[in-house]
Amino acid sequence: MAVIAIDGPAGAGKSTVAKLVAEATGLPYLDTGAMYRCVALLSTRTGIDSSNESGVAAIAESIDITFKGVQCWMNGEDVSQEIRSAEIASIVSIIAAQSPVRTAMRTQQQRWIQQQGGGVVEGRDIGTVVFPNAELKVFLTASPEERASRRVDQSGGDLKEIAFNIAERDRIDSERVDSPLRPASDAVMVDSTGLSITEVVDVIVDHFTHSLEKRHG
Ligand code: C5P
Repeated sequence: MAVIAIDGPAGAGKSTVAKLVAEATGLPYLDTGAMYRCVALLSTRTGIDSSNESGVAAIAESIDITFKGVQCWMNGEDVSQEIRSAEIASIVSIIAAQSPVRTAMRTQQQRWIQQQGGGVVEGRDIGTVVFPNAELKVFLTASPEERASRRVDQSGGDLKEIAFNIAERDRIDSERVDSPLRPASDAVMVDSTGLSITEVVDVIVDHFTHSLEKRHG
């Protein structure tokens, strides 16, 4: 079961890169951030405040999240667009810091990859906690300025506001007790500042190929 774990802070380009790495390697792609975003969306829709830990936990434990290609479906509905809203971005890290939510999502992620027989998995704790034995672990970063301006190019919005939101999410993700955002000790560090997407993808695919060659001789 080959797993490529791609972790890193918000806006580092993980989704774009991970999708292309999945295409290049023929492995399925799993966006774990989308799963936390679904829990945040359903909490909002059902009027459960992000600070209501037992309410949010009940949602995480019963929610049905599936992926059809790059589309994300929640309880039978395509929510791919809706989970990207600024409202969801502003509460998702508060929800993702709660242990019962993480336990429920982690179980689903491990089950999904087991069923698929491997995959390119992007998130915050994939190399450290979800798949500590991944074939390759990548920690993808970029300068805060570049991350914010990429987000604006991708989805529009005010640069200052987006830079603040990204910094705040990174702070909550890094400071939480359960599986905080940090590189695995054996992760390959890739700083994508000033690099093209193709250059980043090539670096990762090369590392993966070398890792497989080393393992199989
Ligand atoms: O990657 P994305 O920006 O969609 O992730 C949204 C949020 O979900 C992150 O800011 C983080 O709070 C949470 N997350 C997480 N663990 C993961 C993936 C995402 O805590 N493996």
